Amino acid sequence: MFRDDFPFFHSQSITYLDSAATTQRLGAVIDTVNTFARDQNASVHRSAYPLANEATGLFEQSRASIAKLIHAKVSDEVVFTSGATESLNMIANGIQPSMLSGNVLLLCASEHHANILPWQKLAARLNLSIRILELGPNGRFTEETLTEWLSIINDDVALIACAHASNVLGNIYPIDAICRKAREVSALSVIDGTQAIAHMQVDVQKLGCDFYVFSGHKMYGPTGIGVMWGKYEHLEKLEATKLGGEMVNHVTYESYTTEAPPLKFEAGTPNIMGAIGLFSAAQYFGHQLEQIVAHEHALYTWLSHKMANIDGITVYGNIDNSISVLSFRFDSLDNHSAALMLYQKGFALRFGQHCAMPLLDSLGIDACLRVSIGCYNTASELERFVDAVNEIITPEGSTFEHQVASEQSAPIEEPHGAWEQALFGATSWAETHRQLLLLSKQLPLLCEAQRHDLNRVEGCEASVWLDKQPRHNDGHLRGYSDSKVVRGLMTVLLLKHHQNLGLAVPIQANEFDFEAYLADLGLSSYFSEGRKDGMKALIQRIQAIG
Ligand code: PMP
Repeated sequence: MFRDDFPFFHSQSITYLDSAATTQRLGAVIDTVNTFARDQNASVHRSAYPLANEATGLFEQSRASIAKLIHAKVSDEVVFTSGATESLNMIANGIQPSMLSGNVLLLCASEHHANILPWQKLAARLNLSIRILELGPNGRFTEETLTEWLSIINDDVALIACAHASNVLGNIYPIDAICRKAREVSALSVIDGTQAIAHMQVDVQKLGCDFYVFSGHKMYGPTGIGVMWGKYEHLEKLEATKLGGEMVNHVTYESYTTEAPPLKFEAGTPNIMGAIGLFSAAQYFGHQLEQIVAHEHALYTWLSHKMANIDGITVYGNIDNSISVLSFRFDSLDNHSAALMLYQKGFALRFGQHCAMPLLDSLGIDACLRVSIGCYNTASELERFVDAVNEIITPEGSTFEHQVASEQSAPIEEPHGAWEQALFGATSWAETHRQLLLLSKQLPLLCEAQRHDLNRVEGCEASVWLDKQPRHNDGHLRGYSDSKVVRGLMTVLLLKHHQNLGLAVPIQANEFDFEAYLADLGLSSYFSEGRKDGMKALIQRIQAIG
């Protein structure tokens, strides 16, 4: 039923399970934005002719609708930003020493990088320390976790930054209890509501937080627009760090005075279309949030219980008291290859670190798969997804038998080019993929001791190392990746490199266009931009040391 409200599904046949990355746009949002662009366009808060007044009215109406959605006391507490990332940076960069009463910044262990890095900068600026609120095994949050967290929130705590719901684990954190304790010790609370806003009732007054932030594109609205909500008294004290037109009330060549919030934080021409589009998203939730929450809850409960009962996968985070986000790993399969297999089956889900590297480190994993549900998803989509996961695990017909990499890999095959013909001849993804998996077995493996940071290829989603291994003394490059597909790709690059060196007139690595070569083989189109960057980094390393 909700699905019909999203034009994307009229033209697309993929199973979209990546709403935590970005949601699909509501038809009403697209229409509002288009109508404004076509018929109503004028700047806001500047000119006074009727069209400009109308634009300002729509912009402020949107602010009021957001205030209503999150139960803000007044609209002026809602600041439009470009998204959650900008909101968090504005808070962290604008905080003045007088606003803080302790020395410690407390961060929840599952925070997104956007809710970690700005605090690291603040800690350096004001000489504060950072302490982490840890989670239980596999990222679970329990009553005991809460008791421990509350005991850590003491008089020395200056600020707590925590997501309302985790973008990796789905965990919903008891923000009201955390903020109550924060108030008792006069600590500021900054809540990242990016993953909560489209999936649950948000009442900033009941939560009792000091700041609450989120992004429009995670709530069926436009990209490039977001919200920083703050208690008015804090917004008055917070320094504006983005300076320019419209945020000032008096300027001389030497100095300026600022407007009152929220305009104080909205320097420059704002994203007017984005803000106005957000109005339609807020209205959508206003009318049917309860039904949306119930629908997602039913889907997620079914999915999480099915997934938790599949032998051979590990599910991370809470499966009760969670938004509709579920992260998991296959226990004894190559997870990267499994993700590629799911993409090829038409599932749009995310594999990687989800901008939460410290969390993944603490879970002892380098990447995981994440399924995230929006109100437009259906039970049959999830049934097909669970079937696909089961198919990947079931040995019959599966190409994903576990391969434990050993140091004694077969030396790289003489480059007769049969592998190359097989890749050129592959007519489907499945065949290309099979060839890559076969090739992955030929990669001369870099031994474990050499898989250290100096040999790590940065920028890849999977962990990747490449070097010449000194004790083999054969001048050959050796590599390793925990992803079998990446090992296959490395093999292709190294085979080609050897082939080039064996020519009558050798071609050195730095003279050869490996990227064009991968494209010729039809391999580059299988990788996301992020993975292409990883491939570029790998090629650069081969060119640097080959
Ligand atoms: N916080 C969380 C929990 C998120 O999931 C995201 C986006 N993945 C962000 C912050 C950053 O949002 P944006 O990129 O829209 O600024």
